[in-house]
Amino acid sequence: MRNLFFLFYLLFIIAPSFAQQIEIKNLKKHIYHLADDKMKGRATGSAELEKAADYIESYFKKYKLVPKGEIGYRQQFEAKVSRVPVLDSIRTAQNIIGFIDNGAPYTIVIGAHYDHLGLGDFGGSRDTITNIGHIHNGADDNASGVAGLLELARVYATNGIVENYNFLFIAFSAEELGLLGSKYWTNHPTIPLSTIDWMLNMDMIGRYNKDNGLAIIGYGTSPSFPIIFKDITSDIKFNLSKDGNGGSDQTSFYKKDIPVLFFHTGGHDDYHKIGDDADKINYMALKSILELEIAVINNSMKEGKMKFIWTN
Ligand SMILES: [Zn+2]
Repeated sequence: MRNLFFLFYLLFIIAPSFAQQIEIKNLKKHIYHLADDKMKGRATGSAELEKAADYIESYFKKYKLVPKGEIGYRQQFEAKVSRVPVLDSIRTAQNIIGFIDNGAPYTIVIGAHYDHLGLGDFGGSRDTITNIGHIHNGADDNASGVAGLLELARVYATNGIVENYNFLFIAFSAEELGLLGSKYWTNHPTIPLSTIDWMLNMDMIGRYNKDNGLAIIGYGTSPSFPIIFKDITSDIKFNLSKDGNGGSDQTSFYKKDIPVLFFHTGGHDDYHKIGDDADKINYMALKSILELEIAVINNSMKEGKMKFIWTN
């Protein structure tokens, strides 16, 4: 009996740390699914992006996140294609939003965009003219970030810990059309902006190489970040950069005086081209990046409400 008690005790103290593990098999499943040819490059307004939205929502439901859109998990808005003239220039887009309610006064927002360039025929493709009209799978941009979003949601929803912060997970649409989903959400927020402690954005975190390292952008947007990063170590190389602006969705939050961090493994030859495929993702490094993010999030919860600083 005493042994049994000891076993239960061990399970009780060890189980939460097991649950904190990022699973490579989950990352692969999400990225191969979202960047499959049958998703046709996840263009904003397409039936395939709707399938991607259903996929993300099914995991939010599975992890029992509280719906925090305007209709269930969804927040709908109109996105305009402005780069090149196309017939269907006004498209319906949806952010997918789920909440972990820990009954805390403040919330950490975790975001990643799930749209991409479709066939590259509404602007944004960097490929040769003969490859426009072919599927741009967007495995790094940004199936990698969505896989990270879903894994962080799983970890914080299943770790058996009631943290002293809530978490809001947002899969943004229409990022490729000019950060439209995050602009829409920050102008029509589904929780008060004043309750957001800080925002973590993942966009292109799948092509780590040790020469460039991982870029962590936004380090200068709060005096708390130097304290948070003081004891952070990782098996990957990372570079801290102060700027709150940058070409992804964290910029929309920074403009609302919210501290931000943007995780990004940088540009590459397949960026916005048809070769951005799931088999080129560095899954080992992606796992390490997400574990680094968990360490940063966990340290941030030891600080009080973060102060914001403009970096430029
Ligand atoms: Zn992107």
